[in-house]
Amino acid sequence: MKNRPETSDENAVSFVPQTVTIGGGSSGISIRYTKSSRRVFISGWYDSFVGIQGAHLDLEELLLALGVSAADLSYMLKRVQKLERYAAWNLLAKDGQQCFRCGKPAKVLCAHSSASGLCGKPMCLSHTHEHGGI
Ligand SMILES: [Zn+2]
Ligand SMILES: [Zn+2]
Repeated sequence: MKNRPETSDENAVSFVPQTVTIGGGSSGISIRYTKSSRRVFISGWYDSFVGIQGAHLDLEELLLALGVSAADLSYMLKRVQKLERYAAWNLLAKDGQQCFRCGKPAKVLCAHSSASGLCGKPMCLSHTHEHGGI
């Protein structure tokens, strides 16, 4: 899966890709989220150029239809809030960086700063870098 951010005025939160492409090349699926209407557009293609007609789905209806629970959303909310906090600090990890603990793709950089400067260790959203005395 590859994220393909698009530039747009409504792309206020830069860590959220507006379009996610699954596959690519000769066949794939494209999922685009429009924040202003909270709608998801899903489409696809095969044989390199044959388009699969897409459809707009209401995000709320999609989540309910998929059985996403309040507990799932609460879990995701905490993670998205963490991402937004780090985005505001300009401490999002770059593509290819790995969590220093688990090796999964890093999402954020440790915000701890001291006299010697910013820690900046790459971390996934499940791990934090503990610094003594905080
Ligand atoms: Zn980790
Ligand atoms: Zn740190």
